[in-house]
Amino acid sequence: MKFQASIFSEMTGLALHYGAINLAQGFPEFGPPEGAVEAYRQALADGRNQYAPMAGWPALREALSQVDQRRWGATHSAVAHPDTEITIVPGATVGLYAVFLALLEPGDEAVVLEPAYDSYGPALRRAGANVVGTSFEAPDWDRVLGPKTRLIVINSPHNPTGGVWERADWNRLAEALERYPRVVVVSDEAYEWMVFDGRPPLSVRQIDALRSRSVRILSLGKTFHATGWKIGAVIAPAELTDAVRQVYQFLAFSANTPAQVALASYLHAHPEYPETLAAFFQSKRDRLAHGLEAGGWRVKPCAGSYFLTLALENLGPEESDLEWAKARVRDAGVATVPLAPFFEHIPQPFPSVRLCFAKHDATLDRAIDLLNSWKSTHNA
Ligand code: PMP
Ligand code: GLN
Repeated sequence: MKFQASIFSEMTGLALHYGAINLAQGFPEFGPPEGAVEAYRQALADGRNQYAPMAGWPALREALSQVDQRRWGATHSAVAHPDTEITIVPGATVGLYAVFLALLEPGDEAVVLEPAYDSYGPALRRAGANVVGTSFEAPDWDRVLGPKTRLIVINSPHNPTGGVWERADWNRLAEALERYPRVVVVSDEAYEWMVFDGRPPLSVRQIDALRSRSVRILSLGKTFHATGWKIGAVIAPAELTDAVRQVYQFLAFSANTPAQVALASYLHAHPEYPETLAAFFQSKRDRLAHGLEAGGWRVKPCAGSYFLTLALENLGPEESDLEWAKARVRDAGVATVPLAPFFEHIPQPFPSVRLCFAKHDATLDRAIDLLNSWKSTHNA
């Protein structure tokens, strides 16, 4: 089984090569809060250099459960139990892989919603599944669900479109799944706190009809602007957690210890931190969206995540968004991610590119200037 190079690495490689502004790969230009970095230094000074327990550093699991309690109330059934329901893993990517390997048998079907994050398809196929796709915006559950379906991967807030599922979307899924009791819902909540315009974040754990058959995936790298620390979490009812841990113990066994210690201590001291992310990223979304709209670009609405998409209206019939994005690294000096590679099973509705706005305001302003002046000189 051969895998293609990830579009994120490819576009970042081009950005480096041409010295372009990199709004392609999704990582922040800024670092974690200083207190978290200081806590990491402290963890090293305290000799936290050996394996963490397989399920994760207990204080971090406890801290994540506290975050749930702050969000939903101490006794809410959505709150995860730190010992039996939370596993710390080296990033969401590994968490997803462990879940797929634990739950899928050859011949099972897995459903993805497209445009779909690039790791889902390859990881699902490697785990033996046949992958079926439907649209993120308007999923056709009747078409894709069947007796072989074992797993559905949902990602809200959504990479790459910035779409956010409402409760009604979750309810429609729950209703469609009533006839399929063996289906597990894997909810990739990497951008869980980045939901804008006053809407509260909504987790699969809040959907009563789905909780017992759901796996929630977190990327603390995203939450703490520390993608290089590679810390994530898998949150699931005890029976599913058991199944995932059985695989995970032989996949990675444990995640970076000082990073876990640092995040636990930072969260303990700053329980409000995740709640600050929505306003922080909303102002960056607005800056980029307004700047590009002023230049005549067609910006798609973005309700969450840290990505904005541009619909490319004037492409020639033979030009794809992949070629367009590569050409703009060279002649506009801005790297973006084309959406074509996010579609494997359904036709792409229109060519578009994704821009990451987890960047300093000055970087966003420079990218706006470059893209707008490219557009004005090319009459595009
Ligand atoms: N899922 C989605 C939707 C993502 O955008 C990303 C990238 N942050 C991941 C998973 C992987 O996260 P991590 O870096 O924690 O492996
Ligand atoms: N999640 C990041 C993105 O969507 C990139 C992760 C990666 O490079 N594999 O851009």
